[in-house]
Amino acid sequence: MAIPVIYPAAQFTAYVSDSLMAKNEKQRASKTLRYPRNLHFQCLRCTLCCGNTESRVRRVLMLKTEAERMSTFLSKPISEFADAVQGCDPYVYVVKMRTDTGKCIFLMEKDCLIYPLRPLVCRFYPFEMKTTENGSCEFSPTKECSGVGRGKLLGKEFFESLFQLAKREFSSK
Ligand code: SF4
Ligand code: SF4
Repeated sequence: MAIPVIYPAAQFTAYVSDSLMAKNEKQRASKTLRYPRNLHFQCLRCTLCCGNTESRVRRVLMLKTEAERMSTFLSKPISEFADAVQGCDPYVYVVKMRTDTGKCIFLMEKDCLIYPLRPLVCRFYPFEMKTTENGSCEFSPTKECSGVGRGKLLGKEFFESLFQLAKREFSSK
């Protein structure tokens, strides 16, 4: 199983293939999660992360398994809600955006219509996860989210659960 960098919305256009972890690195990484200390977060439901902004294009990339799960849930072919993408391995689809608002087609006012099945990249937001040279997995927040610095304190359990979620998703892709 390979765990790629998981980018926050501001940078979802890229995937760094040379960041894949080797087996030993993964084992070490699970023991050496690095995450921001004393970091508070509360989603303010501003929906900024669910669409394009003036300074960046939001690309909600999906794994094949995520798209298939969504297709079953919605009883719709994948082509109705996502486009195929290349060069973003392991992600192979990107969720369609509304042409008039630049927002994700699953966004209804302030709610995500597929919230229980939303893609990994949405679940990770506003955090990026990448592997460092010494094999640690490192989380960092994006600056664009105004919920960072507010609300409850996030501790190791929060980041550990995200890491485990990524492991599960990438092992089933
Ligand atoms: S940008 Fe941050 S505060 Fe706004 S909806 Fe997304 S997670 Fe919530
Ligand atoms: S899938 Fe849901 S959480 Fe993700 S960008 Fe679309 S509306 Fe937002």
